[in-house]
Amino acid sequence: MNPSHPLLLVTHEVLNQAPLLQNTNLYLRNAALQEGLAREGAGAGHDWMAARGAELGSEQMLEWAAQANRNPPAPKLFDVAGNRRDEVEFHPAYHELMSYLKRHGASAGPWSDPVPGAHVKRAAFYMMYAEVEDGTLCPTTMTYAVVPAISRDKPLAAEWLPRIYSLDYDRRFIPAAQKKGVTLGMGMTEKQGGSDVRANTTRAEPVGGREYRIVGHKWFFSAPMCDAFLILAQAPGGLSCFFLPRWTPDGKLNDIRIQRLKDKMGDKSNAGSEVEFWGARAWLVGEEGRGVPTILEMGTYCRLDCALGTSGLIRASLSQAMHHASYRSAFGKRLIDQPLMRNVLADLAIESEAATALSLRLARAFDAQKDEAESLLRRVLTPAAKYWICKRGPAVAAEAMEVLGGNGYVEEGVMARVYRQMPLNSIWEGSGNIMCLDILRAFAKHPRCLEVLTAEIEPAIGRDVRLDRFVSRLKDEMRKPDHIEARARAITQGIALAVQGALLVRFAPDYVADAFCASRLSEDTAFGGGAFGALPGNTDFGALLARAWPDA
Ligand SMILES: Cc1cc2nc3c(=O)[nH]c(=O)nc-3n(C[C@H](O)[C@H](O)[C@H](O)COP(=O)(O)OP(=O)(O)OC[C@H]3O[C@@H](n4cnc5c(N)ncnc54)[C@H](O)[C@@H]3O)c2cc1C
Repeated sequence: MNPSHPLLLVTHEVLNQAPLLQNTNLYLRNAALQEGLAREGAGAGHDWMAARGAELGSEQMLEWAAQANRNPPAPKLFDVAGNRRDEVEFHPAYHELMSYLKRHGASAGPWSDPVPGAHVKRAAFYMMYAEVEDGTLCPTTMTYAVVPAISRDKPLAAEWLPRIYSLDYDRRFIPAAQKKGVTLGMGMTEKQGGSDVRANTTRAEPVGGREYRIVGHKWFFSAPMCDAFLILAQAPGGLSCFFLPRWTPDGKLNDIRIQRLKDKMGDKSNAGSEVEFWGARAWLVGEEGRGVPTILEMGTYCRLDCALGTSGLIRASLSQAMHHASYRSAFGKRLIDQPLMRNVLADLAIESEAATALSLRLARAFDAQKDEAESLLRRVLTPAAKYWICKRGPAVAAEAMEVLGGNGYVEEGVMARVYRQMPLNSIWEGSGNIMCLDILRAFAKHPRCLEVLTAEIEPAIGRDVRLDRFVSRLKDEMRKPDHIEARARAITQGIALAVQGALLVRFAPDYVADAFCASRLSEDTAFGGGAFGALPGNTDFGALLARAWPDA
């Protein structure tokens, strides 16, 4: 049959499919993000965020994100003559994205320009970027997180901070001294132990001054093309933290051997590797035997970013679901007009709003570095937020994927990538149980943590009886001394929910707070508390959907 025959064309008329979600402003469509930015002290960044929101929602940015994930990094371990290179090659789109992140201060902005609200502004930007791409956030986070530890070492700080602060991204594999901008990574996890880093067997032999030779391995070593790393190794005085550059000061490739790249379930654009150190040159950071607290400081900032990144992914899931449901019809009505689908979408919207509010509140505690109460709050809220937001992420992605029906499960779309990315933030930099045990440690070590947590929730008390009762139950749970370790998840989840509830009751529209309290805090969850979409029938679905998605 002639290819232009009208009967053939009929079969190619595409009906009832949503257009691609692109060329939207990720910031101006997100009321919760805008309000949170202003509330937590970075309102001056509104116009800047609006400009970034337009860029990040653009077709170009989405295409780079897709390309960087469709074309994962490849190892180039040797050159043509058989000399070791231990290099990883990336698709050009990856470099475009890294360059964008660095240019806009995602890896060091709050340190190089510590204006009030700098961490909150970065957090909002980070969350918005995470809606688009996530693998590039790994080296970005580690570069941001390394600054406090490096700042305390004067020679290291003098040499490296200017290049960490630089807005230039330099993709070249050359000694850092020849580059304007650098990125940094971290290496703790070994084959025999990740959570329990005391099991590390990698050795550090002193060779004079603060210099050591490192012999051993790391089992997960993300972003091996970073210019330097903080790693843990056993020195004569115990487990210690070392600064390990990719090239040595004399311009030679350091003895860091890439064994292979990890074949990961998601996070495809980012190179995860296994490495061996064959007498690599490294320099002690802090004191011998004090490696864990030194590197854990870096870990705290990474944990913040895990919560931020997953909040962004939750918002991305919600956006995809809202967009699809706004266009797709079934049984004679758009999905977004079907009562049961409205319930599912509204429930996802509440989750996104709660994650956004908690993330930005936590980021404010990082801005108030010198405030003792905020520091204690940061100590508790960081593991609580990482735990709970990252636990919710995979469930949100699965539900949003289902809103898209079969299209959601297809690799060409965005949801498959989002879904595969989701569990990572829950695992790395302290898995769920480790976060919960960390909370117990915080309360045991700093009894005032309970006081500052109570003070954070207190202004919301008396406004919604379901929140009041939930907080009272949580306090009872925390007071009980028995089986505390076995109950640590319940306590951690309770803390996160109580703070989310308090924030929404105080600052979100009544219909958001009401639906949150009804579905997440009420004792009367006989028909809820499981899958999304079990909000009470009298919920103000229309208002919730309109707030979450202006086109709804
Ligand atoms: C994609 C990716 C990138 C990574 N990048 C890096 C990197 O760049 N640098 C780096 O150092 N690491 C990295 N990691 C490693 C990551 O941080 C570890 O996998 C993680 O900390 C868990 O350690 P593990 O794998 O050894 O598991 P384990 O420590 O064996 O833990 C297994 C499970 O047991 C639980 N558990 C452990 N102890 C207890 C306890 N006392 N009570 C109850 N439960 C417990 C944990 O919560 C976890 O669920 C990366 C991991 C991934 C997946």
